[in-house]
Amino acid sequence: MTGETSLPGPDVHDWLRTVPKLELHLHLEGSMSVATVRSLIERHGVDPTPIWPDGLPDSFSFEGFPDFSRQFLFGLALLRSGEDLASITEDLAATLAAQQVRYAEVTTTAFTHFRPLDGRAGMSPTEYRHGLDEGRRRAAAHGVAIGWVIDIPRDLESPGQQVTVGFLDSSEAPDGLVAMGLGGNEVGNPAGPYADDFARARAMGLPAVPHAGETDGPASVRAAVDDLGAVRIGHGIRSVEDGDLLDELAARGILLEVCPTSNDLLQIVETIDDHPLSQLVEAGVPVCLNTDDPGWFANDLTSELVVASERLGVDLEGHRTMLLDAVGASFLGGQGKADLAAEIAAH
Ligand SMILES: [Zn+2]
Repeated sequence: MTGETSLPGPDVHDWLRTVPKLELHLHLEGSMSVATVRSLIERHGVDPTPIWPDGLPDSFSFEGFPDFSRQFLFGLALLRSGEDLASITEDLAATLAAQQVRYAEVTTTAFTHFRPLDGRAGMSPTEYRHGLDEGRRRAAAHGVAIGWVIDIPRDLESPGQQVTVGFLDSSEAPDGLVAMGLGGNEVGNPAGPYADDFARARAMGLPAVPHAGETDGPASVRAAVDDLGAVRIGHGIRSVEDGDLLDELAARGILLEVCPTSNDLLQIVETIDDHPLSQLVEAGVPVCLNTDDPGWFANDLTSELVVASERLGVDLEGHRTMLLDAVGASFLGGQGKADLAAEIAAH
């Protein structure tokens, strides 16, 4: 990888399109396209005008993270049954399969389904679990293995953590659960108060993969590592503001799940050309590319790889390294890691 931008030719695009892939940072509730949101609005007879006064737009747009959150939470509230969850999981798996994604760790926010923000009665844990289990079965039929990450929403005025951790510790926890995450706005919501919840999750065998260093700076990443025992960080790109932190992440092999298009659209970086991916790589920090919320951002993993090639100076060896680092940092079980790594190395 170099800092130079060299436009890849058709062969490079072909390699990026066909290389076997995995994705570690995408949200189930963020995978819904405009078309899916429209069909859910119709299915459930919901009025979209409180969020979109002129009706649902043809494509989503956002003015910063809080505006995105507002629209995202509206979309999330359209998921009202296990079948809604199963069908969007299958839709996601179909798009992943078309990009040669073999394995995805998909984050879902259980609490907001159990206790909807609009005051409706939520899904029962049993229905939520059945939705995820059925969705995961349908995904497997598309050739896509799914590991679930269930996250705590850090910016809701609610007992989200107790409900979530209690659910994970119950017989209702879904199949394929691999880790616990922490989402939402970091600003004003530090990681420290969640330390006990993540300790409890670790005791259940669920490692910590919190978001940090997206909407807040390096101190937020440090807190995720020190207070929560994070083994990977969602985003983490603002670690570039602290050289000592970069050294620590590199030395400990803590991978950053980097989402360039998300960072651009949510104005975490001023423009895509300002994205610090190459600085992270040069500092020796393991990174991989991800879509975050592909339905809302109209991106996919292949398009992220192309953006990284065309705008962020990543060459093919850089891509191979990122994919292999993602395999290493994934929670793929059994022979899965070795098989996927061998497929990528041979491509
Ligand atoms: Zn995310």
